[in-house]
Amino acid sequence: MPAKATSAANPETLRLLIAGKWHESESQDLHAVFNPADGRTIARVPFSTKEEASQAVGAADDAFGSWSSMPITDRIQFLFRMKEVLEKHAQELATLNTENHGKTLEESRGDVRRTIENVESAISIAYTLAKGTSLDQISPGIDEVMVKEPLGVFAIVCPFNFPIMIPFWFLPYALVLGDTVVVKPSEITPVPMQRVAELIQKEVGFPPGVINLVHGGSEVVESLIGLSETKGVTFVGSTAVARRVYKLAGENGKRAIVNGGAKNCIVVMPDADVDQSVPSIVSSFFGNTGQRCLAGANLVVVGAGGGQLLDKFSKASSALKVGNGLSSDTQMGPLVTNSAKERVLAYVQKGIEEGGKLMVDGRDVRVNEFPNGFYLGSTILDDITPAMSVAQHEVFGPLASVLRVETLDQALEIVNTSTNYGNMASIFTSSGRSAREFRRRANAGNIGINIGVAAPSAFFPFGGMKDSFFGVAHPQVDTVDFFTDRKVTLSRW
Ligand code: NAD
Repeated sequence: MPAKATSAANPETLRLLIAGKWHESESQDLHAVFNPADGRTIARVPFSTKEEASQAVGAADDAFGSWSSMPITDRIQFLFRMKEVLEKHAQELATLNTENHGKTLEESRGDVRRTIENVESAISIAYTLAKGTSLDQISPGIDEVMVKEPLGVFAIVCPFNFPIMIPFWFLPYALVLGDTVVVKPSEITPVPMQRVAELIQKEVGFPPGVINLVHGGSEVVESLIGLSETKGVTFVGSTAVARRVYKLAGENGKRAIVNGGAKNCIVVMPDADVDQSVPSIVSSFFGNTGQRCLAGANLVVVGAGGGQLLDKFSKASSALKVGNGLSSDTQMGPLVTNSAKERVLAYVQKGIEEGGKLMVDGRDVRVNEFPNGFYLGSTILDDITPAMSVAQHEVFGPLASVLRVETLDQALEIVNTSTNYGNMASIFTSSGRSAREFRRRANAGNIGINIGVAAPSAFFPFGGMKDSFFGVAHPQVDTVDFFTDRKVTLSRW
């Protein structure tokens, strides 16, 4: 039975996919899942028991033998079918994504497109990077061959903000390389991934146990990592949890890819083309309602000439139409939960108390048709200094903090030292020299040059630096080494 995100009267209790079958959880620990646009409960998510986590990992382990022995050319066919199914249901999935997360339908369509791109990238990896290497005659009569072998079961632990796309930074790569998975979506936005699992299980027909799905929070994650059959974990979420997961993985001897939080600086030079830059900067700060790890957070304006830019930035930001993401004229959806909204409001208040000046105030924005939605308008605080909490902490919402400096050196100082995050940094400039200087000196894993959201396509690795990333291999294309082990054979004939 499909996940019905729209049924408010009788919200569906989500189920677990274990060994190819859907199960009601034994857990009595049920949590409401909301549509943030109207505050309705759209589903209930069970927090899976330890036994259920163990059953899911056991099922994945049982499936590993035959799945990993299947010729890679056959596994690739599953991925081609998965791509078709995702494309066929793209509109439904984008709608569910918006109903559970709140982002606009256009943003959700982009998420689904990037999800599919990861399947395409995994297919291409299988044809190219996943093959081993060999060297004949390294010594008289001796050949040396290196093959990459899958390892077994991987847990995929996901954040709320890209309910479908982020699981797909890992899932198609693990599968095509011959591993099996247990996916644990965010407990805040579990509905879209549950529907994806239903569709691919039914319409692609993976062998039972190759893909499993459990729900819950920290306890189920700890169980998944602690089980001996689990070979590794991928995690994307906040830095505080990322540290815990990385430590736990290490203590248990598990491989880990761990992406943490962010606080990204957007630097605008006096020579930036204002009209071209502003739409990109607005979308960086307020796209996805500021809830993305590549969102702009600190706007660092260089030189005295920032007046025109700030004027246009604040006008365009305050003009954004806030509303239900399903409405075609909505440009910014709600925050994901009421507590996320409260957290942003608390930061705005703190920023004002610390000396910030409200340039745009979105705190009182209401959407009349949906009085119970978790809405906030775009908010801009001027006169922020690097020492203030709004300049340092991840707010994860529609708040822009404006910092003013005189030189590119001072801007880079803020980029590199105001926080210990290093996910993304962008510069807007018409000078190739400034752009090059910035690219070389900014300590961030993703650099934008006249780009507000420097999101690497699936054919590139996605990784941050410093507190934004723990581990070695990054998500997406890099996972070919993470999901395989190397075996070198020397032979003499
Ligand atoms: P979160 O850290 O609260 O939760 C992420 C996942 O961890 C969820 O599945 C949750 O159930 C689980 N979890 C929570 N507490 C745990 C614990 N103590 N032990 C083990 N697991 C636990 O993150 P979120 O609020 O869902 O997502 C937003 C955060 O994710 C932001 O900080 C954002 O910057 C970050 N993020 C980072 C990237 C990136 O690529 N660097 C991408 C997207 C989001």
